Amino acid sequence: MPNFICMTCGVQYGESDSPPTSCVICSEERQYIGWQGQQWTTLDRLRGDHRSRIEPEGSGLTGIGIEPSFAIGQRALHLRTAGGFVWDCTSLVDEAVVSRVRELGGARAMGISHPHFYGSMVEWSRALGGIPIYLHEADRAWVMREDRAIVFWGGDTLEIGPGLTLIRCAGHFAGSTALHWADGADGLGALLTGDTVMVAQDRRTVSFMYSYPNLIPLGAGAVERILAALAPYDFEQIFGGWTGRNVREAGKTALRYSARRYLRAIERGDRD
Ligand SMILES: [Zn+2]
Ligand SMILES: [Zn+2]
Repeated sequence: MPNFICMTCGVQYGESDSPPTSCVICSEERQYIGWQGQQWTTLDRLRGDHRSRIEPEGSGLTGIGIEPSFAIGQRALHLRTAGGFVWDCTSLVDEAVVSRVRELGGARAMGISHPHFYGSMVEWSRALGGIPIYLHEADRAWVMREDRAIVFWGGDTLEIGPGLTLIRCAGHFAGSTALHWADGADGLGALLTGDTVMVAQDRRTVSFMYSYPNLIPLGAGAVERILAALAPYDFEQIFGGWTGRNVREAGKTALRYSARRYLRAIERGDRD
């Protein structure tokens, strides 16, 4: 039986004879049903009409996206660190991904920022040797394909390797997570955020939303909570969830500046 993939958010579902009537993730206020109506594909079809786009994204970091662009245009990142790690996920895992990850030294685990990046995570895990997938337990209800590779973690942080820490920031989703890599950015520290913290188009600042496509902002309390969760960590660079969406310098200053700007805008309405 096939595992259908929603063409709007890219999430793969558990086995079913026929496609689900609608996508649970896209039917919710943070996402949307595609303008052509609910559409589904499968991994086999995706392998036929798309391919992986693999490119260096930073020091020790390789970006893995899909071309032509698929779903919300998500990308995954491979971290070249002890044993290798895959952060976030896409809907497509193919031979090119498997052989590149092997060349890069493999991967011993995966972690995903939030449900919009779950993609075909179970297929990725299996293709890379059955590696564990770390998801925050607060988002358990959004897992559309259960698998024993999935490891739900709880609490606010989880060190999953030397200098590699999952940090629950919440905000966009209750379990929205960032990954801190202490040795990233040539030892200055890197923060990988998906859209828990969104790198803005200027690639010098970031922003925060409850829903990006439907433009629902986060309240002050949620933004302050994200800042507090990230305060103990140093990082020079921030890598968002899309190709090229990276802050290359003074990442932590950019985060603090951007949060102050955001809070000023929503609290005082200073652009009335
Ligand atoms: Zn969907
Ligand atoms: Zn999202």
